[in-house]
Amino acid sequence: MPEYHAPLRDMRFVLHEVFAAGQLWARLPALAGTVDAETADAILEEAAKVTGELLAPLNRSGDEEGAHWDNGVVSTPAGFREAYATYIEGGWVGLAGNPAYGGLGMPKMLAVQFEEMLYSANTSFTLYSALTSGCCLALDAHASEELKQLYLPRLYSGEWAGTMCLTEAHAGSDLGLLRTRAEPQADGSYAISGSKIFITGGEQDLTANIVHLVLARLPDAPAGSKGISLFLVPKFLVGSDGALGARNSLSCGSLEHKMGIKASATCVMNFDGATGYLVGELHKGLAAMFTMMNYERLSIGIQGIGCAEASYQNAVAYARGRLQGRAPGGTQAPQKSADPLIVHPDVRRMLLTMKALTEGGRAFSTYVAQQLDLAKHAEDADERRRAEALVALLTPIAKAFFTDTGLESCIHGQQVFGGHGYIREWGQEQLVRDVRIAQIYEGTNGIQALDLLGRKVMANDGAALRLFAEEIRAFVDTPAAPRPFASELLSALERLESISTWLLEQAGKDPALVSAVAVEYLNLFGYVAYAYMWAHMAAVAQASRASNEAFYGAKLSTAQFYFSKLLPRIHSLDAVIRAGSAPLLELADDQF
Ligand SMILES: Cc1cc2nc3c(=O)[nH]c(=O)nc-3n(C[C@H](O)[C@H](O)[C@H](O)COP(=O)(O)OP(=O)(O)OC[C@H]3O[C@@H](n4cnc5c(N)ncnc54)[C@H](O)[C@@H]3O)c2cc1C
Repeated sequence: MPEYHAPLRDMRFVLHEVFAAGQLWARLPALAGTVDAETADAILEEAAKVTGELLAPLNRSGDEEGAHWDNGVVSTPAGFREAYATYIEGGWVGLAGNPAYGGLGMPKMLAVQFEEMLYSANTSFTLYSALTSGCCLALDAHASEELKQLYLPRLYSGEWAGTMCLTEAHAGSDLGLLRTRAEPQADGSYAISGSKIFITGGEQDLTANIVHLVLARLPDAPAGSKGISLFLVPKFLVGSDGALGARNSLSCGSLEHKMGIKASATCVMNFDGATGYLVGELHKGLAAMFTMMNYERLSIGIQGIGCAEASYQNAVAYARGRLQGRAPGGTQAPQKSADPLIVHPDVRRMLLTMKALTEGGRAFSTYVAQQLDLAKHAEDADERRRAEALVALLTPIAKAFFTDTGLESCIHGQQVFGGHGYIREWGQEQLVRDVRIAQIYEGTNGIQALDLLGRKVMANDGAALRLFAEEIRAFVDTPAAPRPFASELLSALERLESISTWLLEQAGKDPALVSAVAVEYLNLFGYVAYAYMWAHMAAVAQASRASNEAFYGAKLSTAQFYFSKLLPRIHSLDAVIRAGSAPLLELADDQF
């Protein structure tokens, strides 16, 4: 049976040693009295118990049983209700929520470690509350005070859950096409009518109420994405005292049958004149929804890291125990019938690829979270603006690169098991199936790449990229920058800058260029960002090596592997980008 143990030592390494989180929190007044390094470690230890002992044991049974639909009533697999009740008793849903409405106000840098544990342990279970956290963020940023007072405390407590209702059968990546209608009512509410598909947790049996955030358009709204507004539509109407009232006119038409995350209910939701309340301004719903989508994008990125970590832990254990063949350099275990798999260089290639990508991803998710904390809490307005620009630039990379490398890692993890990786009982095939969706939902990875290159790099003439590049150069110039990794990082950065300049020059001449090369560009950027993370980690490891050779020596060997075996992927990506759009456009549509 697969097992999961939260990588606490590694999480503490990233939080405290690489990013000195405690010092940062001490200088941000909103966090100074709330959290310090010790509190964070205590929370992570508790989180490790909850994820390892409560949620991980339900992962496989949840996958085998799946969610059920019976005439509009949805039930989660056996054990989920009890686990959810225990989970919310611990106050985990509101971990990083606004304390003014019952959240615990913990920093995002801490929350991302917990999110990773959750996805490692049980992705399907996690999705029910991940959507709630994003829903809270959107309400906190855009809803009226009345709605916030009424809904946020019950969402943060986990008593109620949130959803995100964007997608319609004919409107996926292109939300401007959506047709769900919102008719203004005399009492200031709206009657919402339309059908949404693929709604995660649209109906379930875990919470007393479900709070749907629905994108819809008024009858006189302009066409396209500028005519979309955001509405809060509860499953049960809520009285001014918070008591649940009548059932709203909405229902779950069916559940999707899907490849993975089978215990997560993916619902068709029908709204038949359901009562909804405007969130934010009319016709500016998409912008308001982006508060939730950006949160969810980082979260879904972390799904990639979490699944990869779970796959890695099982693959290492298997590679140590399974005996096949002999090591190429000579027998390692003469007393046994064969050597363990872990001696074979090709198996080590797979394990090291997983390790380097997962630890690089963990560091990068913590870095993005640090920028989110600064954007929210820094006292200095310039520091806040800088952090916001970095978050905007790096969020599409986090979402797409974490999940692309997450799938790559899970496939390596499955391959380490040979045929047994294809068999259910080992859990590796479930991880491959569960992680795959993360490349698709929350905006496909292709759409993330277009966002990065078209909007975050091209649209502001590379200004945000320059900000990130300046930071890397400043790091490379410090005496602590690790050799030889710092100079390799610098050349990788120069390649990213040079290809970005080339793209800025060429895009005006070729309207198809951005769309043709955006995915390779995002990947190239991702490898450079991870090189920055690995150089940071190597700097700490070089300085601390004498105190713990096993731990810090492993960090340096993994950094060496990253720089020599993974970072060179940027050279082929660079060549593909420079090949431009022509090779994609030569074939006529009817020649496919
Ligand atoms: C299990 C699951 C859970 C989900 N949960 C939710 C949820 O909770 N709430 C919600 O609202 N939605 C949810 N979704 C929907 C999901 O976000 C969409 O499926 C996704 O955004 C893609 O939309 P689509 O499926 O319509 O694909 P399409 O938009 O039709 O895209 C098909 C392909 O074309 C590409 N493409 C599309 N447009 C362009 C373009 N302009 N340029 C280049 N390439 C393009 C895409 O990248 C993709 O590869 C979920 C989906 C699934 C499967």
